[in-house]
Amino acid sequence: MIAENIARIRERVFTSASRAGRNPQEITVVAVSKKVGVAQIREAVDAGLNIFGENYVQEAKEKISQLGEGAMWHMIGRLQTNKVKHSIPLFSMIQSIGSLHLAEEVSLRAGAAGKTMDVLIQVNIGEETSKGGVGSDQVLSLLGAVSSLQGIRVRGLMGMAPYFLDSERVRPYFQKLRHLRDTILQYLPENISLPHLSMGMSGDFEVAIEEGATMVRIGTAIFGERT
Ligand SMILES: *Cc1c(COP(=O)(O)O)cnc(C)c1O
Repeated sequence: MIAENIARIRERVFTSASRAGRNPQEITVVAVSKKVGVAQIREAVDAGLNIFGENYVQEAKEKISQLGEGAMWHMIGRLQTNKVKHSIPLFSMIQSIGSLHLAEEVSLRAGAAGKTMDVLIQVNIGEETSKGGVGSDQVLSLLGAVSSLQGIRVRGLMGMAPYFLDSERVRPYFQKLRHLRDTILQYLPENISLPHLSMGMSGDFEVAIEEGATMVRIGTAIFGERT
């Protein structure tokens, strides 16, 4: 069933990218595996997915140690400063950088490990108190500060739209994140590029792709409802 779900998602990625005149290969499906067991993650790996998104460091650590090589892991959940050290060897990207304080800790710990961590700045595009991320008016100054840190490299922006039953209503939020990226780029030194926009989940990834997503984070549509 997981393999079928993935096949269907691939088709939908292809269709929505084509509709927007985009190359479907520009779009990476990040399989969100929080609360999903190792056996199911293996099924997804066998079906060709190799990037998984996790929300909790300890949970990720256990799964990664069981699954070994063959997959890459992105941290997509709220990351506490005291967990940064443990997260450095686990993840190839941290998508949820929402403060300078957190970025500095990543810089410190990655630097100490001789690593450069790729990150995305999480933007609270819906201005929801329940969600993490910086306000859109703070992204430029945060980026400016982070770009001078060692051991950390910003690759783009991540955002979550508010939940609507009608997925069409999320479109303005995704447009906002893309416009923010495009605007900010004009103010940054030329050696900084922000190629990635991580936006879109099970309920709204097609709209996100039409609006420029390069990463979609999909859990439920791959693994089923989380219990
Ligand atoms: C859980 C989660 C997702 C996936 O949500 P689904 O609706 O299950 O696809 C995506 N992004 C983040 C940050 C999440 O926490």
